Amino acid sequence: VAGAVTGYSDRLGTVHPFGDAAAEQRVRSDDRNHVFHSWSAQAQINPLPVAAGEGSTFWDYEGNAYLDFSSQLVNLNLGHQHPDLVRAIQHQAGRLATIQPSMASDVRGELARLIAGVAPGDLNKVFFTNGGADANEYAVRMARRVTGRRKVLSMYRSYHGGTSTAISLTGDPRRWANEPSDSSVAHFFGPYLYRSAFHSTTPEEETQRALEHLENVIVLEGAPTVAAIIIETVVGTNGVLVPPPGYLAGVRALCDTYGIVYIADEVMVGFGRLGEWFAVDAFGVTPDLITFAKGVNSGYVPLGGVVISDRIASFFDTVSFQGGLTYSGHPLACAAGVATFDVFERDGILARVRDLGERVIEPEIASWLERHPSLGEVRGRGMFWALELVRSRETREPLVPFNAAGADAAPMAEVAAACKAAGVWPFTHFNRIHIAPPLIITEGELRHGLAAIDAALTVADRFAG
Ligand code: PLP
Repeated sequence: VAGAVTGYSDRLGTVHPFGDAAAEQRVRSDDRNHVFHSWSAQAQINPLPVAAGEGSTFWDYEGNAYLDFSSQLVNLNLGHQHPDLVRAIQHQAGRLATIQPSMASDVRGELARLIAGVAPGDLNKVFFTNGGADANEYAVRMARRVTGRRKVLSMYRSYHGGTSTAISLTGDPRRWANEPSDSSVAHFFGPYLYRSAFHSTTPEEETQRALEHLENVIVLEGAPTVAAIIIETVVGTNGVLVPPPGYLAGVRALCDTYGIVYIADEVMVGFGRLGEWFAVDAFGVTPDLITFAKGVNSGYVPLGGVVISDRIASFFDTVSFQGGLTYSGHPLACAAGVATFDVFERDGILARVRDLGERVIEPEIASWLERHPSLGEVRGRGMFWALELVRSRETREPLVPFNAAGADAAPMAEVAAACKAAGVWPFTHFNRIHIAPPLIITEGELRHGLAAIDAALTVADRFAG
């Protein structure tokens, strides 16, 4: 499936054939000795040295090709080394490599205008950040300032970033070792029909009960103390949880009733992952603030931001907004963002995401339910899917326990290893495999990768009764 890439370029531009064991060794030892990695016990990891990438594929130093079915960290929407993005960054570096955020820059303004043009409702202004976590930090800061309230409600089973308030908002185990950092956060249960906190049996029931629960949380936490509710429009790392019909509209209504700012975290699902510019478009709701990052420029240069409603933006017409980052809206990042818009329009990216999701991915993985007893549920939309693996379909016992590590996590490690041995690099988390390939993946590559995962599921089936 991979193209004719037979080697890699070093940082001086010299091209080497794959199979240079000394080069690989150097990468490994520099990394092991001097790079301190995120979210890891340093002695327990063995990062893959990556030599090259192109389109939906990346290569290790031995020349093994991997289809990037996780788009790195679900950021690489336009794939590796997209020529338009690379050219835009190179061109911008040659004309004005950086300019600080309190000055005006043509590419920054152009990107803000383009984002406002596709954002829903009256979300017309963009505050740029360096990534997703800081976008959420600043969205919360705006909501607190505008409402004069402090508390923020966020879901269990959510991820909002690794920084101070963002990790407090996060509703998964990554928060545990980092508490307390922002104590004005309370969590609630979102809809998740397969493992319903409300014992619902239909999507309608789940929507109604999840909204009743949220309203109870608002009332008991004290509505006059709640500044914002932050929700991933489709929950990402915690399971690709697509909200049932009416849920997000119900959240919008509760926010209106109680004067709460609705923040949609679209760091993972914004910019095409669901086949819409913003994922809220698929659910017909308009939040007050949308946070974004990743897909805005495929992460070629770090960039994130907050899209702001006129109501909130105008509050700061006369009140100074206290916040900013030296590299906010970096011109190299914005140039890649503008190029992203060009590619999306020219290549019909949103339409192809919807088409490949509906025509290829959904029917294919749904058909696996007949053959793989380890498959509890498949769910998703566009180019964003999860396979939830179980030991028993009847009891829905997960293939590995929640937050499993070490020997407990072995069955999932075996499934992931089988995928990688077949040349596909999926995202695996707890008992799930996520399918989130670059949006430019060819149909042939997509079918090839899906076939490899189908085959790897036989490994999971051995643990399922
Ligand atoms: N919000 C969501 C929904 C995410 O998925 C992520 C990252 O995965 C973040 C926020 C944090 O973004 P970043 O890692 O760019 O800070």
